[in-house]
Amino acid sequence: RVAVVGAGVSGLTATKCCLDEGLEPTCFEQSQDIGGLWRYTEHIEAGRPSLYASVISNTSKEMSAFSDFPYPEDFPVFLPNARFLDYLRRYAEFFGLREHIKFGTTVVSIRKRPDFATTGQWDVVTEADGKQISHVFDAVMVCIGNHSEPSLPLHCFPGIKKFQGQYFHSRQYKHPDIFQGKRVLVVGMGNSGVDIAVEASRVAAKVIISTGRGSWVLSRVFDHGYPWDMVFNTRFQSLIRNSLPGPLSRILINYTVNQRFNHENYGLQPEKSCLVREPVLNDDLPSYILTGRITIKPGVKEFKDNSVVFHNCPEEEPIDIIVFCTGYKVSFPFLEEALIKVENKQASLYKYVFPTHLQRPTLAVIGLIRTLGAMMPVTELQARWVTRVFKGLCQLPPQSVMEKEVNEEKKHRVRRFGLSFDEVLKTECVVYMDKIASFIGAKPNVLGLLCRDPQLALTIFFGPCTPYQYRLEGPGCWDGARQAILTQWDRTLKPTRTRVPTSSYS
Ligand code: NAP
Repeated sequence: RVAVVGAGVSGLTATKCCLDEGLEPTCFEQSQDIGGLWRYTEHIEAGRPSLYASVISNTSKEMSAFSDFPYPEDFPVFLPNARFLDYLRRYAEFFGLREHIKFGTTVVSIRKRPDFATTGQWDVVTEADGKQISHVFDAVMVCIGNHSEPSLPLHCFPGIKKFQGQYFHSRQYKHPDIFQGKRVLVVGMGNSGVDIAVEASRVAAKVIISTGRGSWVLSRVFDHGYPWDMVFNTRFQSLIRNSLPGPLSRILINYTVNQRFNHENYGLQPEKSCLVREPVLNDDLPSYILTGRITIKPGVKEFKDNSVVFHNCPEEEPIDIIVFCTGYKVSFPFLEEALIKVENKQASLYKYVFPTHLQRPTLAVIGLIRTLGAMMPVTELQARWVTRVFKGLCQLPPQSVMEKEVNEEKKHRVRRFGLSFDEVLKTECVVYMDKIASFIGAKPNVLGLLCRDPQLALTIFFGPCTPYQYRLEGPGCWDGARQAILTQWDRTLKPTRTRVPTSSYS
């Protein structure tokens, strides 16, 4: 019996993977519906993620599919949040997941049972309609995401207490009408910051983005008009990026991202230490900077009554509203701190999934990772691996080996990304997915395929690393995987190739 906490993207796929492995999942969802982050509500609900109305996924539908459930052909390539939720609803329906979900039920605490060392079991206390119930589970999958608890580090902003205008965290933001005619400051240049600044600039008197570190800005529409992630996340590209020595790889990234426009000329050039920070995906920002709708400024030095002063800028900028787009914190309120320690937004987990120090591997965290790519296939692979570990079909290395790896990984991250803000949860997508897939025997064997099915092998190597690749072999392989891979571009082009010039008929 497995307790799954949360019925968002990770919780749904965790429930499905439990069923695939013959385990008995009970998924606890505190709200009344599935979808987690992707279920937009007008009102902000405590403890739940909160989207703004206009959010569109920044990874394409082919790269964001669950591996045995492609999106319908007619869905747009990048999905507005409602279409995304529609997909999740279809997934839950198709695999019969709803009957395993207990809605309106909050997990209050998860504690090891006294005989944990021999049984690996957990006491799970849940609360529904004001009543608490205690259950015993053989294993637990924590699928709560990392967008529920806003990070609002006001102590980093001298003078904020004096500021007379309005300020709030991006989590509070829903619609742009509040910015009508106002002078707006957006603090933080992650995806939320840029999305909100772009929307605000259509109605506001002035919009400034303050960024300490700058960022690469990519367009969803990439080389030759193809979706960015279908060009960027191929095995071929990943091999090149990972084989080149660090400095050369940086030169390559620098060259590629500056093809569309020179980031230095737009005030966006990232600081050296964050060359590999999560890029911002936005199609409008460069043109909005060109047309003067948005101005980019450095980090905030201090706030005054009605204005802001930036580092290295002598003049004050008058402002009316500040939106702090300063990201989110990671926490597990229902777990004892000793179970999963979070420091600097980094949890000490083997492969970002398993605590390293438990006598039995019966607790797993799904989706606590940021990759340069879609989350769905990553969380699904994690869940496939975890369920096989729970069943005893896959073994974890000894504790000392896991701890050593986690510590080395942390050091590596400090060197490569700098240990601050968001970078620590991030990793190279294809490499990570291949690693997890190799644990369960689902990593595609491209060389082997080259002899048996060269067309498929070449598509897998040079084409986008779509999730269906992880259903070609091994446990849970899916008959439709080959066909799904060979038709991935058809589903991508179908919703846009909606007009055929009459000359094409002759
Ligand atoms: P985020 O990516 O964590 O960015 C937060 C930013 O806040 C930092 O990059 C930093 O920006 C700034 N910051 C944080 N702490 C600060 C401090 N103490 N002082 C000054 N600045 C500070 O947060 P987010 O933009 O809300 O995004 C969260 C996740 O949701 C990301 O994975 C993002 O990709 C995702 N998201 C996706 C979509 C979409 O799919 N369309 C939309 C929104 C968000 P600077 O370095 O620039 O100062």
